[in-house]
Amino acid sequence: MIAKSMEPFLAGSSVIRAMFEEGKKMAKVYGAENVYDFSVGNPGLHPPKEYREAINYVNNEMDPHLVHGYMPNAGFESTRTAVAENLNKRFGSEFTAENIIMTVGAGSSINVIMKTIFDPGDKQVVFAPYFVEYANWASNYHAETVVVPPNEESGFEPDPEALKKALDPKVKVVIINNPNNPTGAIYSRETLEKIAEVLKEAEKEFGHPIYIITDEPYRELVYVDKEIVFIPDLYDNTIIAYSWSKSLSIPGDRLGYLAVSPKSDNVEEFMAAATVANRISGDTNAPSIIQLAVERCLDAQVDIPYYKKNAEDLYKIVTEAGFTAVVPQGAFYLWVKSPVADEKELVAAAKEERILAVPGSAFACPGYIRLSFCIANETIQRSAESFAKLGKKYFG
Ligand code: PLP
Repeated sequence: MIAKSMEPFLAGSSVIRAMFEEGKKMAKVYGAENVYDFSVGNPGLHPPKEYREAINYVNNEMDPHLVHGYMPNAGFESTRTAVAENLNKRFGSEFTAENIIMTVGAGSSINVIMKTIFDPGDKQVVFAPYFVEYANWASNYHAETVVVPPNEESGFEPDPEALKKALDPKVKVVIINNPNNPTGAIYSRETLEKIAEVLKEAEKEFGHPIYIITDEPYRELVYVDKEIVFIPDLYDNTIIAYSWSKSLSIPGDRLGYLAVSPKSDNVEEFMAAATVANRISGDTNAPSIIQLAVERCLDAQVDIPYYKKNAEDLYKIVTEAGFTAVVPQGAFYLWVKSPVADEKELVAAAKEERILAVPGSAFACPGYIRLSFCIANETIQRSAESFAKLGKKYFG
C-alpha cells in the first residue's frame, strides 16, 4: 500500500518514464543510431581529465579512512574552503567555509534549503516555464508553489511586475534558474535588478526575509557573450544552489553545494539549521571521494565549445525545417514553438520521425517543446532529415 499523497507523483512521472521506455523500444526496432533522443538532459561528454585524475589520486594516494569515512554533515572543511575561495576569486565575493554546505547535487541542495525555510502552508514563487521538480520538492515540506506565467515577448525573462502581483506574506522563496532549463535563456542584469527591488520592498512590507534560491547547475554552460549575473551582488538574502552534474559531466556522482550569501540575514542560525536539515534528509553528507576530487579541480570544465556547436547546429536544423525557436544562450536546451496549440500533438508527430522531445506542459508552458542537445553532434546531424520531414507536415 502506498500513501495517497504519492499518487499524483506516480501519475505525473509516468509520462517521462513512458517516453524513456519508448526510446529504448524504438532503438531496438530502428537501431540506436536512427533514434534522435532529445528528451533528457544527461550530459553526453566525458568528465574532464583533471577530474578523472583527481579521483585516481584521492582513491590511491589519500588516507582511506578520510576518503571513505563519515565526516561533518556540512562536508569536508577543506572542500568548503576551496569552494568559497573559488567563488571569491571568480565573483569578488566574501564567502567562507561557514557559508557553504556540500550536498548530493543541486536537487539535494534545494531540498535542504527548503527544509530549512518552509513551514507547512508557506509559498514559493517560480517563473514558468520552470524545472518541474521545484514544485515536487516544495511539496515535500508542505509548501505551495505559485507559478508566474511565461513572459514570451521578453524571450522568457522572469517578469518583475508579475512577480510583484504573486507576492503575499506567505511567500518565503523565489526560485531563479539561470541559465534556464528549459528555455536556454540567460537573464539580463536589468531584469534581475528589478526583481531584487521588488523583493526588497516586499521584505520591508511583510517584515520577514524572502530568499532567492538561485539554481545554477548550468552556470558554466554559456554559448553567447552575455554575463551570468552574480545574484548575491544584487540581493542579500540569496542562496546559491550549485551542482557539478553538468559542468563536469558527473550527474551520477552526485555533488553540489548550497552557498548562503554572507550578507544574508542570520547566516549562522541558517547554516546551523541547514546542516541539520542535510543530515536528517537521509543524505548524511555528500559523497566523500567526490568532494575530495572536485576540490582538486575546481576550475576544470567539460568541452563547452562542443555544446556550443550542438546548440548552433540544432538551432539551424530546426529553424531551417520551418520551426521558430529561442536561440539557446546557455544550458542544454532548445525551446521550440509548437505550430499547433497542443504541443503534445507535435511531440507525437516528432516521435513518428524518431525524434523524442519533452512537451512544454511538463514545464507549465504548453505550446512549446524542449529538445536537449547535450548528445553526440553526429546524432544532431543525422536528425536533420527527420526534422525536415516533420517541418513539411506543418509548413508544407
Ligand atoms: N536544477 C535544474 C534546473 C536542473 O536542470 C537539474 C537537473 O537536470 C537540477 C536542478 C538537478 O541537478 P542535480 O543533478 O545536481 O541534482
